Amino acid sequence: MTSGTFLMVGAGLSGAVIGRRLAEEGHSVTVIDARDHVAGNCHTERDAETGVMVHVYGPHIFHTDDEEVWRYVNRFETFLPYKNRVKAITGGAVYSLPINLHTINQFFGRTMRPKEARAFIEAQADTSITNPQTFEEQALRFVGRELYEAFFKGYTQKQWGCHPSELPASILKRLPVRFNYNDDYFFHRFQGMPEHGYSAMVERILDHPRIAVRLNTRFERAQGGEYDHVFYSGPLDGYFDFALGRLGYRTLDFERFRDQGDWQGCAVMNYGEQSVPYTRITEHKHFSPWEEHEGTLCYREFSRACGPDDIPYYPIRLVAEKTLLSQYVEMAAETENVTFVGRLGTYRYLDMDVTIREALDTAGGFLARRERGEAMPAFVHAPL
Ligand SMILES: Cc1cc2nc3c(=O)[nH]c(=O)nc-3n(C[C@H](O)[C@H](O)[C@H](O)COP(=O)(O)OP(=O)(O)OC[C@H]3O[C@@H](n4cnc5c(N)ncnc54)[C@H](O)[C@@H]3O)c2cc1C
Repeated sequence: MTSGTFLMVGAGLSGAVIGRRLAEEGHSVTVIDARDHVAGNCHTERDAETGVMVHVYGPHIFHTDDEEVWRYVNRFETFLPYKNRVKAITGGAVYSLPINLHTINQFFGRTMRPKEARAFIEAQADTSITNPQTFEEQALRFVGRELYEAFFKGYTQKQWGCHPSELPASILKRLPVRFNYNDDYFFHRFQGMPEHGYSAMVERILDHPRIAVRLNTRFERAQGGEYDHVFYSGPLDGYFDFALGRLGYRTLDFERFRDQGDWQGCAVMNYGEQSVPYTRITEHKHFSPWEEHEGTLCYREFSRACGPDDIPYYPIRLVAEKTLLSQYVEMAAETENVTFVGRLGTYRYLDMDVTIREALDTAGGFLARRERGEAMPAFVHAPL
C-alpha cells in the first residue's frame, strides 16, 4: 500500500493521536492549529510569575478504565498519582462533593450511619414526581428540595444559563449521593496528572519525523484538496462557514488572580449559590502537589452563552441544537475525504480518555478501510 498525505485540523488530542498513528504506519501527516500552541483545550503552561503549571482552558484531570488508553498516555508522559477531590461552598459552609455521608451529616447536623442516611434521604425525596421530565424534577425526586437548592439549583443555573426546569432529566442520570465517606470524584481505575503538563505530552505525541506541525494556521476548505484525506477536529458548523446558523455552546471566562502561599487549600472549590456570579475557583498549584511554589495562581470561572468570537466549551445539545446538528450531519455526509472527529467535530462533550480511545479507533478503522480500498465515512462516532 502506497503512503498517503493527510491533514489533521487541530493539534488537540484528536489530531495528535490520529496523526501519530498514521505517521507510524509510514504516511506523511501535517497538523495545523489556529492557536499558537498544541494540546487544544487541555493545554498547560507555566505561569511566568509564580512558576505554577496552569490548566489554561480550565481544570483537566485524567481518569479512565481503559487500560490501552492509560498505557498510551504513559508512553509519552509520566503520570503521577492524583485524585480529584472537590469542595463546595453553599449557605456559608464548606462541604465535600460529590454529596456523601459527610456532606449529608454536616448539612443536616446529624451523625447518621449509611442505612439511616439512605432512609433519611428517601424521606426527603419528592415521591409525588413519578415520571421526572426535567433536571429539577429529577433532582427533587432523588434528593429532595433542601439538597437540590443548596448544591444543584444555583450551580446548574449558572453553568447552563437557564433554570433547571428547562433542562432534560437525562443530565442527572443516577442518584448523585453516596452513603459512605468516599469523596473521590471519579471511580476510575487509572487516575493521574501528567508530571510536566498535558502540552508536554502532546508535543511528544507529535514528535515524529513524518509529522509536520504548523501553528497559527487556520484551516481553509480549499486546503483539503491538497491531501488524500482530512481529519477535522474543529467545530462542525465552522467547517460549513455556519451556513445554517451556529450550534449552541457555553463558553467560559476566567478571571485570574495571584497570591502568596495557599489561597483556598484545594484545587477546585464550587460555589453553589446563584448570588455568587462564578461557578468555581480553581487553584492550579494543587494539580501538581509534587511541586513547591511560593506564589499561587487562581481562576474564577464564569459561564455564559458562547458568541461568534468566543471559545466554544460545552455543547448545549437541547432540542433546537439537535435539530440543527442533524442538518449539519447531513451536509457532512455529502463531503468527500473529510472525517469529523473529536469534541468539536462531533459536537459532544468528551473526556480526554474517550477522545484518545475514539482517535485510536478512528485511525485504526481508517487504515483498515484504506487497505480494503473503501472510502472513509464523515463520522466514525455519530454526533447524534
Ligand atoms: C472546561 C473543561 C474542562 C475539562 N476537564 C476535563 C477533565 O477534567 N478530564 C477530562 O478527561 N476531560 C476534560 N475536558 C475535556 C477535554 O478538554 C477534551 O476531551 C479534549 O480537549 C478534546 O480534544 P480534541 O482534540 O477533540 O479537541 P480540542 O482540544 O478542542 O482541540 C481542537 C483544536 O482544533 C483547533 N481548531 C479548531 N478549529 C480550527 C480551524 N478552523 N483551523 C485550525 N485549527 C482549528 C483548536 O484551536 C483546538 O486546538 C474538559 C473540557 C472542558 C471544556
